[in-house]
Amino acid sequence: MDCLFLTARDGYEAIAAFESEPKIDLILMDCQMPRMGGLEASREIRRREPPGRRVPIIALTAHAMRGDRDRCLRSGMDDYVTKPIDPDSFREMVLNWLTQVRFSETRKAAAKRQSQVDNQASPLVAARGKVRGRILAAEDNDVLREFAVEVLEEAAFDVDSFEDGAMALTAAQKNPYDLVLLDGHMPGKAGFAVAQSIREGNGKNADVPVILISGSSGPHCESDRSAAGIDDFLIKPYSPDQLLTIVERWLNRKHADTPEIAENRVRVS
Ligand SMILES: [Mg+2]
Repeated sequence: MDCLFLTARDGYEAIAAFESEPKIDLILMDCQMPRMGGLEASREIRRREPPGRRVPIIALTAHAMRGDRDRCLRSGMDDYVTKPIDPDSFREMVLNWLTQVRFSETRKAAAKRQSQVDNQASPLVAARGKVRGRILAAEDNDVLREFAVEVLEEAAFDVDSFEDGAMALTAAQKNPYDLVLLDGHMPGKAGFAVAQSIREGNGKNADVPVILISGSSGPHCESDRSAAGIDDFLIKPYSPDQLLTIVERWLNRKHADTPEIAENRVRVS
């Protein structure tokens, strides 16, 4: 993961690090630390945050006890993970939070633009070409799914969204889509397996562009990519702009490959 880290040995150092660096995107906070623990440090950080800024805090705890999660959330933390940490799930959690941060920044920028132009809704992302299409999107993180759907619908795409891979696959077997977006890490049927089933089904979506949303496009992914029929990767953390860019690139390519659609696009434009 391409990140810069600030480290702290206790709550006091965590607060000092937070105050020294205005561009922290995410805080990983151990609950049990000497001098000042994570709960107190989180409360203190929330008190010191300027208006409009809220850095996500993920609690790390060694002893999962009843009520721990609620105590963490009441202290101003946003998420919770218990040691020993499962690396894949933890990585997914961090990437999801970082993606949410990027979407929130885009939203804030849109709200600022809107406040500068009276009575005009400001789009989340800049207006682009005229490519349209029906998209199937599967993402198990509720907030990210809602953010992605909002951005895609604002760009005038029709979106069917699902919180798990099995539901997405059922939809893909029933309806034709212009593009499929699949989160790589979902409970039950993950993105690779859904993509493979869509391809093997030889049904309505056998040739649809499939984009896997992943934490990496490294060699281990590349080796499975052709077997699963993945066309491209959208790497977390991604911004609304990066989401639209990759969707439009593949829809443009799909339309260019389909003569009658390409003809239609020439006629309407
Ligand atoms: Mg996921």
